Amino acid sequence: MPELPHAASVHNSPMVDKVIPLADHRYASAVPLIPAALAAPTGSLNDALARPMRDLRISVTDRCNFRCSYCMPKAVFTPQYEFLPQTSLLSFEEITRLARLFVAHGVHKIRLTGGEPLLRKGIEQLVGMLSELRTPEGRAVDLTLTTNASLLAKKAQLLRDAGLQRITVSLDALDDAVFRRMNDVDFPVADVLAGIEAAERAGLGSIKVNMVVKRGTNDHEILPMAAHFRHTQVALRFIEYMDVGATNGWRMDEVLPSAEVVAQIHGVHPLEQLEPSERGETARRWRYQDGAGEIGVISSVTQAFCRDCNRARLSTEGKLFLCLFGTHGHDLRALLRGGASDLEIASAIGLVWQQREDRYSELRATGSDAAKAMDGAGPRRVEMHYIGG
Ligand code: SAM
Ligand code: SF4
Ligand code: SF4
Repeated sequence: MPELPHAASVHNSPMVDKVIPLADHRYASAVPLIPAALAAPTGSLNDALARPMRDLRISVTDRCNFRCSYCMPKAVFTPQYEFLPQTSLLSFEEITRLARLFVAHGVHKIRLTGGEPLLRKGIEQLVGMLSELRTPEGRAVDLTLTTNASLLAKKAQLLRDAGLQRITVSLDALDDAVFRRMNDVDFPVADVLAGIEAAERAGLGSIKVNMVVKRGTNDHEILPMAAHFRHTQVALRFIEYMDVGATNGWRMDEVLPSAEVVAQIHGVHPLEQLEPSERGETARRWRYQDGAGEIGVISSVTQAFCRDCNRARLSTEGKLFLCLFGTHGHDLRALLRGGASDLEIASAIGLVWQQREDRYSELRATGSDAAKAMDGAGPRRVEMHYIGG
């Protein structure tokens, strides 16, 4: 196991009227300030760059039964790897309590992720609890989940019955040998496809399939994947291989720019670009000119979309991260377990978001010193399986 930093500190400030001590730390974090002047959420919260908080991604487990090399490489995530103990995880009640506060601040979309979220025991109960949440305007929250689909055939109906509306399945290749190599646990493609079919049967509408494209590994699967999902209700999205975390040995020459993905598909099945349906949408969408459906590309590396980034991330143990490339979490679990009131926690979240200036991908694209410093010997960057994709 790589050495984990232990860099926690409690802010002390005259503004704070309650300080709650820290416990177990995997990544650097601090307990957020509870401002002396408490402020109830108004349903609209902007960060320092005028970006609203709209989307909350919740990692419900740091464990996974796959070992995708770009996310949890086997060499690092060995059988000896120490995942978080059960007591560190937020309970469903704690997750729901926090989610309610985020929704009060303006979040209207919640994505459950991980690790592999379907490994979390009783996940459908959490789905049921979150599906009860209402936005300040009285609307249900847009609730979705990202999964590797290994357990989806078993769970799809339960999830739907509990109130899940949509689902995203990760699938990196149709070729069985390529897929088994990429998940690195010899998991067959057929079982993922069976999971997708079960989701369709269960009525989980608007299914998305995410394919992470690694040049030289699965780029020859782009056209077969596109052909397979044309004329279906499934929207295929191609994701540029990202340099998240510190364990996947990321190299720029393994990134296949989305523009090349679009060009490849357009060469065979002509495409036309669609207008974004909402601000902050991560995927640029294209539709087949012959009406066979749509695809999306997520160009996190070649076309940073920080300017509209409205996503907050809650780690498995209740730390709030403001960016996928964050190094510091804001320990909301300490507030929850330290007895802070809803108003205090909501005020603390509000203050953290109002101060947010994160825009890592944009800074890296411009070669800025700030991004270089983040890539260097500073605090360890958070891993995708812990923070959620
Ligand atoms: N285990 C679930 C799954 O794979 O769908 C949910 C968690 S996974 C971290 C969420 C998404 O992040 C997946 O679609 C995965 O392909 C993507 N992902 C993980 N590491 C990535 C990387 N280095 N670059 C781009 N996408 C990545
Ligand atoms: Fe597991 Fe998902 Fe990461 Fe693959 S991408 S190792 S399935 S968490
Ligand atoms: Fe958002 Fe950070 Fe990604 Fe930029 S780099 S889009 S701020 S998560």
